[in-house]
Amino acid sequence: MEKNLNKKKGKVFLVGAGPGDPELITLKGYKILQQADVIFYDSLISEELLNLEELSNKEKIFVGKRKGKHSFSQEEINRMLSEHARNGKIVVRLKGGDPFIFGRGGEELIFLKQQGIEIEVIPGITAALALSAALKIPLTHRDLGRSVIFLTGYSSLYSEDETGFPDYNWKLLADPATTLVFYMGLFHLQRIAERLIQIGRDPDTPAVVVSKVSLPDQKVIQGNLKNIYFLSLEQKLEFPAILLVGNVIYASL
Ligand code: SAH
Repeated sequence: MEKNLNKKKGKVFLVGAGPGDPELITLKGYKILQQADVIFYDSLISEELLNLEELSNKEKIFVGKRKGKHSFSQEEINRMLSEHARNGKIVVRLKGGDPFIFGRGGEELIFLKQQGIEIEVIPGITAALALSAALKIPLTHRDLGRSVIFLTGYSSLYSEDETGFPDYNWKLLADPATTLVFYMGLFHLQRIAERLIQIGRDPDTPAVVVSKVSLPDQKVIQGNLKNIYFLSLEQKLEFPAILLVGNVIYASL
């Protein structure tokens, strides 16, 4: 007990690793990794980054999904993060893309705050921005896209039915000058495209699906709302993949 009183205070850094290319982490994130005692990482984190010589002495704990199965529940991850910080460790929670875009970083934040743990957040390049750069598609453009929405194409909690098809107020997505980026966009690709046509989007609106953005085996499927699903069947796309819909794609054609 007495020992604990003298211990240095731990801290958790929620760090965005970027979309996969190890060079797309921020310099700040990279520096913090080098100060870490322990790194908790997900399945989307680049091996190349984790295997860097300067990180060879770090304790690295995999807490992501493998073959669709969680290695640890969110509650277990939260508990491990807080326990390590309480033990005076510099903890890095390294997450794909940005920690606060669809990565449950917000849940970790709330838990750690409730526990009184010191937290710092280092942003990362989220998949939508990586796609935009890799394919040279501006997400906004004065004529073609005046707003952009990041959405999830799958939601187990807020679904229209038991399939995880998200229960948005879809009509709000009809504006042709709004760029839509669907994370987890592959599973319901067909239904998303159909629904967008149903709510009034032009069936010829261009769409792209990109898997493994920024990685050497990146794959791109380019089409429009009518055909993107059928085109996606011709190529076996691998996880992770993201869908972008909008007239901004014309700027890159
Ligand atoms: N926090 C992450 C997103 C986590 S949700 C971020 O900011 O990017 C996981 C989803 O992100 C995947 O299903 C996929 O839609 C998208 N994604 C993440 N990395 C990707 C990549 N390299 N290529 C394509 N999609 C990616």
